[in-house]
Amino acid sequence: MKHLIDKLRREQDLSAEEFRMLLTERSKETDLYAREQADQVRQQVYGNEIYVRGLIEFTNYCKNDCYYCGIRRSNRNAQRYRLTEEDILVCCREGYELGFRTFVLQGGEDGYYTDEKLVSLIRGIKEIYPDCALTLSIGEKSEESYRAYREAGADRYLLRHETACEEHYRKLHPAEMSGENRRNCLRILKKLGYQTGAGFMVGSPFQTVDDLVEDFLFLKELDPEMVGIGPFIAHQDTPFHDRESGTLEDTLFYLALLRLMLPNVLLPATTALGTIHPKGRELGVRSGANVVMPNLSPVSVRKKYMLYDGKICTGDEAAECRYCLSRRMEAIGCQIVTDRGDYRTVHR
Ligand code: SF4
Repeated sequence: MKHLIDKLRREQDLSAEEFRMLLTERSKETDLYAREQADQVRQQVYGNEIYVRGLIEFTNYCKNDCYYCGIRRSNRNAQRYRLTEEDILVCCREGYELGFRTFVLQGGEDGYYTDEKLVSLIRGIKEIYPDCALTLSIGEKSEESYRAYREAGADRYLLRHETACEEHYRKLHPAEMSGENRRNCLRILKKLGYQTGAGFMVGSPFQTVDDLVEDFLFLKELDPEMVGIGPFIAHQDTPFHDRESGTLEDTLFYLALLRLMLPNVLLPATTALGTIHPKGRELGVRSGANVVMPNLSPVSVRKKYMLYDGKICTGDEAAECRYCLSRRMEAIGCQIVTDRGDYRTVHR
C-alpha cells in the first residue's frame, strides 16, 4: 500500500479503484506511513504554525432534523438559546484580546436570523475587526443569501457535505433534505469566492468503503480550501443514540490522506477528535491537520450546543481553552499563531 500513499503524495490524485484498495487493505504500518508523510507535507506548507479559530456557537435552534445531531428540531430535551449581536461582539472582543484573528459564527439553520440581521452582524464585526477573517457555518442558503453575506464581508464558509453518496445521505437525513442540494451550495460558495470548507463524518452509521471513496473523489473535484472531518459520536436524544463512534485510527488515516491529496488545505483537528481520545487533537496535527478551533461561546450556553455526547471543553473559559491548546501544540513542536490563517497557495 505504501506505493499508493507515495503516489497520492506525488500526484495528489488516485483513481476510485486505488482509493478503494488503500481503504480496504490498510495495516497499522501503512496507516503510520501515511500519517508521517502527511505530517511532512503539513510542515512543508505551513511550517510549525497552527492556525486558531474562535468558534462562536450563536444559536442552537435548527429547522432541520438530521438523524445524528443533538440539536435537531425534534429533540425536545435540547435547551434552546440565541446569542444577541451584543453577546457575539463580546465574544469577538475577548477572542481578539486572546490573539484570535478568525471568528467562526456557527449555528443551526435558524430562521430568526434573517439575511438582514446576518448582514448587519457581519458588517458590524468586520467594521470593528477589519484585520480578522470571518467564517460562517450556518447551513444551506440561497445563492442570493450567500452573495449578500459575502458582500457584507464574510470570508469563509463551512458546510460539511456529510457524505457524497446520495443513498447514504438519505439514511442520515429526512426526505426533505438532499445531498445534491448541499453539494450545489458548496459549488456556489466556491463560485462566490469564499474560502470554502466541506467535510464528512468518520464512521457515521451505514458508512461503507464505497461511500468514503466517493467522499475523497468529491473533495478532489470540489478542491475546497478547508475540509472538516471528525469521528461520528452518538447523541443520546437522536435515532442513532446506540451507534458506535467513529474511531481515532480511521480519523487520523483519513486526515493524512486529505493532507496528501490537498496539500494546502486548511484541516482542523476537531473537538470531536479530542473527545474520543485525550490526545486526539495532537495526533490529528501529527497526521496532517493544521487548525484548531477552541470555543469562544459564553460558558453559560456551551453545554446547550451539544451536537454529540461527551463534548469536551464545555466548562472552560475561552482563555483557558486558548492557553490549554497552546501548551498542547507546543508539546508537539508546533505553535499557535496570531494570524488570519488564510489558505496558502504557495509552499514555503
Ligand atoms: S446537523 Fe446542522 S442542519 Fe442538521 S440538525 Fe444539526 S444543526 Fe441542524
